[in-house]
Amino acid sequence: MKTAYLYVRVSTDEQKRKGYSLPDQEDRLLKYCKYNNIEVKGIYREDYSAKNFNRPKWKELFSEIKKKPTEHKNILFVKWDRFSRNIEYAYEMIGKLRKYKTTLMAIDQYIDLSVPENIILQALHLAFPEAENTRRSQNVSNGIRRAKLMGRYPNKAPIGFLNVTLMDGKKTIVPKEPEAEIIKWAFNQVAMNDHKISEINRIANDKGLICSRSYFFRVLRNPVYCGHILVKHNSNENQIIPGLHETLISESLFYQVQSVINTERKNTAKRDDLRAMFFLRGFLTCPVCGQKLTGSFSKGKLKRYPYYHCNNGCSIRIGAILLNNCYQNKLQELILSNSCIELFKKILEDQNIKTQKTSYLHTQYLVERKIKEENLTLSKGRKLLIAGILKIDDYNALKKENQVNTKNLKMESRNISNKLKAIDNSNQIKDKPLVKIFQKFSEFDISDKKHLVNLIPPIDIDYKTGSLSLDLNHAFSKIFSKKTLEKTNFIDRNVSVEQAIIILAKNGILVSDDETRIILELLYLIAKNHKKSEERKIQNIKEISDT
Ligand SMILES: [Zn+2]
Repeated sequence: MKTAYLYVRVSTDEQKRKGYSLPDQEDRLLKYCKYNNIEVKGIYREDYSAKNFNRPKWKELFSEIKKKPTEHKNILFVKWDRFSRNIEYAYEMIGKLRKYKTTLMAIDQYIDLSVPENIILQALHLAFPEAENTRRSQNVSNGIRRAKLMGRYPNKAPIGFLNVTLMDGKKTIVPKEPEAEIIKWAFNQVAMNDHKISEINRIANDKGLICSRSYFFRVLRNPVYCGHILVKHNSNENQIIPGLHETLISESLFYQVQSVINTERKNTAKRDDLRAMFFLRGFLTCPVCGQKLTGSFSKGKLKRYPYYHCNNGCSIRIGAILLNNCYQNKLQELILSNSCIELFKKILEDQNIKTQKTSYLHTQYLVERKIKEENLTLSKGRKLLIAGILKIDDYNALKKENQVNTKNLKMESRNISNKLKAIDNSNQIKDKPLVKIFQKFSEFDISDKKHLVNLIPPIDIDYKTGSLSLDLNHAFSKIFSKKTLEKTNFIDRNVSVEQAIIILAKNGILVSDDETRIILELLYLIAKNHKKSEERKIQNIKEISDT
């Protein structure tokens, strides 16, 4: 051996332990070379872990090796664990080096590879560091489990809590405002069962609990908020331990919420399916007995078929899909008359642009404010760290949490920007789709569908063929280029009855107040659904790019 490259390595983790320092290793290698009369071609000093070979200095060394593929070369290090702590990658790298005529040698664990049996020895040297690593990480997770069994919370604090180190050096979590207060509010709201959980989630978001829908559900299911700590054992068994941390809610409230979540999930999924399939229910009467028809699934050979039928024993029965389609087709034959387009445009602008835009802009404002708060928290933390009040571990935990929060907030902000852009874009799509006013009926929410059926109910239904007519209100017949009311409130709607009357009159349609009200109700309903598909497209693209 005449020449050699020297490779010394220490990971940040190892620096805490003794005998691993870079100068120590370098010193030993240089002495060895001097003693054996080996010329040193270069020293590569690495401070990376050896889990794989994705290390900057190693890459440098390797590209140096590749430059002289035919020349015989040597790499020296102190021990095999300096070279690799993963046996699989180690052998792969040894193979690559062999191709470039390079041999490896650990001066403290010398192996004469010309003796075939020594290959086993080398394997042992390579396998040991990996076993050591695995053992260490197992010890860490055992440590975490032990801490949990003692009621402490060693992991990253869940939202609403903050990691802190107590005077005795032990780690725990404490409530973090304003999130903690909002979480309490959310648990109480869910327990009352007056609102949908998604609605509560939205309000919690507005209040400043910025998290996704799925995370919100995880919060509601996490027993840590009522003081319990979940310990997972290797056997996949879970154990619940009373925690030492301050609770946000009572145990009974927690279990109340669990039962609400469980029943709401089951019920709403089923109920929404049924309501969506039988959206004409309540508007169909049995021609024999005059009772309202109901809807249900009847079992066929292969699958279940939905039917509207009479509950009174009359033989009236019709396929729900057929009748739904007939209704929808009939609806889609209606075309908004040209004289009403100006009014509809105004409503579209109000509903889809002003109202929605305002709501998105408001959300964006809240998100931006949260981002600023996050930045402020971090800089406060930094000051406390410098002042020696905050420990480095706590600061790092804070920083990590901060980064995650900021990342999520920025994602949300981008999402809102996209929605705002979608509004602006779709605003440029002109008159063409406006005339075919019911084109998007199938995309309406179930409650909007029912609302629409209520405004334009089906009549003269033939329960054999499904043919039907629409009961067009007298007012509607004025705005559709086919044929003919209830009163509703117009909260938050800016196109007033008076305005509508003026616009319609200008275009040659004379309507009464009542007629105008129902026309506005219908147009607002359509307007609400008008831009949905564009938004959905953007949402889909975003979801794909996120995954
Ligand atoms: Zn009947």
